[in-house]
Amino acid sequence: MSVSRRVFLASGGAASIGALAACRTEGMATPAAVSVTPRRVLTTLAGMATSDGAGVKLTRVIGQPALKNLDPFILLDRLFSDDPSGYVAGFPDHPHRGFETVSIMLDGKIRHKDSRGNQGLITGGGAQWMTAGRGIVHSEMPEQDKGLLSGFQLWVNLPANEKMCPQFYQDLGPEKLAHAALGSGGAVRVISGTINGLAGPVRMRPTDPMLATLALADDKPFEIEVPEGHTAFAFVHAGSVAIGDTVVPDNTLAILSPGNRVRFSARTAPAGVLFAAGRPLREPIVQRGPFVMNTEAEIQKAFADYRAGILDKA
Ligand code: FE
Repeated sequence: MSVSRRVFLASGGAASIGALAACRTEGMATPAAVSVTPRRVLTTLAGMATSDGAGVKLTRVIGQPALKNLDPFILLDRLFSDDPSGYVAGFPDHPHRGFETVSIMLDGKIRHKDSRGNQGLITGGGAQWMTAGRGIVHSEMPEQDKGLLSGFQLWVNLPANEKMCPQFYQDLGPEKLAHAALGSGGAVRVISGTINGLAGPVRMRPTDPMLATLALADDKPFEIEVPEGHTAFAFVHAGSVAIGDTVVPDNTLAILSPGNRVRFSARTAPAGVLFAAGRPLREPIVQRGPFVMNTEAEIQKAFADYRAGILDKA
């Protein structure tokens, strides 16, 4: 049985000097030789059908028994339904502490309200980066938009020294995401990190995350530079995509090997990919439902604070 994450549960070679003599080199660093280490698919994994909130049907990708987490990522849910009865009940009031949630909408809308009076509407093509920090109690309620709801929720862990930081929201309408056309009708939309010169609006997060959606309209390869040691994954949500030399089918997570470059090429177009990478924290993870801390004592404190109505207070 899966544990609900949103429902509160009690339980140079050097050139010669002569050759460089005419060159202006003062103050310039010698470029380091950059070797390319391609990332490849280490393993693939299908999501697990489950429900959460008030019975919303979803597919849990990270955070399921076969993949409890993927440091620094705690959870990835794929939300997809063309039947409003499967999602309109939404995710009523529930708490979070100790991490960040990223909601990425491809189609449909989610209305967000929290215990501190913040509210917003996440619309198709947009995203919300919410640093829960010390805690919030919030609701996330899907709204119908031509019947279709399609998106993701990704949980990104916070390091021990930032788990109790103040709450912080970055509401990102579609116009705020860095985007560029890809091939014949495709697009890359960057939420966080810099991809081929496109800098996403979310900066300065402790895990230095990269997060982007790719819409691939043809088999023209698209390459992304990634920090060598970042954990990286790609979730194919439409079509099929060759990542390195491995063809990854629809609705499949691909966990990537270390390396500094990853190459995507649609095999069945149009194809859609969620790409994420982040610096692993390598800290103890103690998770109970909607709380993600480092120790059991901190989890018990979160439950106690929630019961006392002070989860979101300093
Ligand atoms: Fe939530």
